[in-house]
Amino acid sequence: MEGLRKARLREIPPVNEVLFHPEVVLLRAEVPQQRVTEAVQDILSALRQQILESEDLEFLSRPLDFDLLASKVREKVALEHAFHLRRVINATGVVLHTNCGRSVLAGEVADFVSGIAKGYSNLELDLSSGERGSRYSHVEDLLCKLTGAEAGMVVNNNAAAVLLVMRALAAGQEVIVSRGELVEVGGAFRIPEVLKAGGANLVEVGTTNKTRLKDYTSAITDATAVLLKVHTSNFRVVGFTEEVGSAELVELGSSLGLPVVEDLGSGTLVDLSQWGIPYEPTVPEVIKCGVDVVTFSGDKLLGGPQAGIIVGKRSYIDRLKKDQLTRALRIDKLTLAALEGTLRMYLENREQEIPTLALLYLPTKELAARADELAALLKQAAGTKMQADVERGDSLAGGGSLPTANLATYLVSVKPVWGTVSELEEFLRKAENPVLARVQKDRLLLDVRTLLPGDSQGIAAVFHAWAAQDGK
Ligand SMILES: *Cc1c(COP(=O)(O)O)cnc(C)c1O
Repeated sequence: MEGLRKARLREIPPVNEVLFHPEVVLLRAEVPQQRVTEAVQDILSALRQQILESEDLEFLSRPLDFDLLASKVREKVALEHAFHLRRVINATGVVLHTNCGRSVLAGEVADFVSGIAKGYSNLELDLSSGERGSRYSHVEDLLCKLTGAEAGMVVNNNAAAVLLVMRALAAGQEVIVSRGELVEVGGAFRIPEVLKAGGANLVEVGTTNKTRLKDYTSAITDATAVLLKVHTSNFRVVGFTEEVGSAELVELGSSLGLPVVEDLGSGTLVDLSQWGIPYEPTVPEVIKCGVDVVTFSGDKLLGGPQAGIIVGKRSYIDRLKKDQLTRALRIDKLTLAALEGTLRMYLENREQEIPTLALLYLPTKELAARADELAALLKQAAGTKMQADVERGDSLAGGGSLPTANLATYLVSVKPVWGTVSELEEFLRKAENPVLARVQKDRLLLDVRTLLPGDSQGIAAVFHAWAAQDGK
């Protein structure tokens, strides 16, 4: 074995020799020399390492494949050359997939963003007076119209919104929260920790399943600054429960001059129950209850860009706008453009054209037709290498929204006749146009709910490449 190892080590070519392999010569015409040399060095040192560590006789006795080495160099350079952030096909059925960028923007909104990105804009300029303007002015009126609030502003995300509100209204003071609402939302957003980061002291009241108004009343002291209500976005306590509604909390707060702040999390502007999706309190309803400050995400059920939207009474919003932290949490112009575009669609009653909502509402009949179409395309592309059947299943809203929603859908269930399901999943994920699917035991599941126009053809193309691999 050690003899074979030495022989293989001696076979490793010098960098220069690889640089003159015809395939690598071609590569050097396209990519800077330095990049190619580095790739060759990396590939050769990986090979050396592999030889040093291998205990595989078959590998150690195999002669050097110079062409394979050259194609590895090409692959490595291509990989480094490709954009790291890429479009993927989401066939998981999770509509607000945080790992896949949550909401998809409407085409017209993306076009508007692109136009603003490519030129100068009146971001902080009041065109009528020629004076300096506020970047919030582009969306504040829209937010007020759509929610009924007196004032509004936007920061980087909802976590930032809650942090800012706590710091500006409660630093060094106490914030009362029900124990049933001390939530953790994906990506390490925990209410107790956000309060701490904002310099506010958490006062927990009630129990996990039951909190009554008198629990709040008896916890109020001179140090109390805010009564905070948090939407338990991603879980539900069911059974023997009791919580204090926003209206009751507002009554208590206003009798003592204490602001009530509500973190709505997903924050929908429209009642989703009209489309058979479980009821969620809407932002306008919460504002109507008299809640002083409401925060919610831009890229959850709203269907816009990542943003933290804050609406409420003018006196509080003004205090937030003046806080030093606001500057650090400032939203950029591309996000503002995307948000303005999305909010305008609501204003024009075209919310059903916003992709996130459109995907949530997709009728089952439509989903069934799409699943049949995808299954047929896959059979065409790779019919001899796998079995594809349509079955019923459930999609998820995701993003910590609507945890109890039962979004009936249709899935294309794939059983490869060659290799394992997890190998197939990996092939799809690592494709040039990556496809993300669900794996369930011995089947790969493709949920058609989250497919966008052209995605079915894209999936079929990747299946075609999978079926065409050597050895299949
Ligand atoms: C999602 C969520 C957040 C965090 O919002 P981001 O926009 O992701 O920062 C905060 N609070 C609640 C209740 C949420 O559901």
